[in-house]
Amino acid sequence: MAAHATPPARTGLVVIQALRKKHCAECRSGPLALLVLEDGVPRCLDCVDLGHLVFLPRGDTALTRRSWEESSLSAVVVRFDRRRSRYERQGVLVEEAALARAEDRCLADAEARRRRRVRDARRRAAEDARFMDAFATEIRRLFPGCPAGRAGAIAAHASVRGSGRVGRSAAGRALSEAAVTSAVIASVRHLDTPYDRFRMSGVPRYEARRRIAPVVERALREWREAGEGRDGGDERG
Ligand SMILES: [Zn+2]
Repeated sequence: MAAHATPPARTGLVVIQALRKKHCAECRSGPLALLVLEDGVPRCLDCVDLGHLVFLPRGDTALTRRSWEESSLSAVVVRFDRRRSRYERQGVLVEEAALARAEDRCLADAEARRRRRVRDARRRAAEDARFMDAFATEIRRLFPGCPAGRAGAIAAHASVRGSGRVGRSAAGRALSEAAVTSAVIASVRHLDTPYDRFRMSGVPRYEARRRIAPVVERALREWREAGEGRDGGDERG
């Protein structure tokens, strides 16, 4: 039967997870969960001087590789897969101290990655803040009558990372006049006109836009012109 097939030749030691009840040919202990075939007969790990090793199941590639590197004595653990008619690797046996050192190295890596993520997040937050400031400044340059607080809110709304809003688009990043203007229009549309109410009551988008166009135009005109000689952004009620 296929279960008698020999494990694949490997460099290094091979330990077999027993499928059938086997006993050690030397000390008679058993049935054995793990055994080594020497000259075709099963022996327990203690008899072949591997009893002090610990089993690390397959799955964590980095931990396995590092444990293997750290361990001066190690073995591959295989089990015969009857369906596939071949031995499949189940994990490795390594020295406990080697596994501990490997775990330390992996933890150090994870900690390094965590610190890098924190640094990246801080840098992105700083970039976002700079971008938002620049965006708000550009709004106030093009629309001097737009109150400073409102310009800041428009910039913040348009700049939300990952939102796909205008501030995040390439044009928005370049602070083109078109991008800045469309962010301002969007704000006026939603805050200063009944556009959203129209949309909620089923008015088609283009019809809703047509109805509010005069309001938007007036707001843009006022903000474009009202800035002359008036700084600080207060808006008359
Ligand atoms: Zn034995």
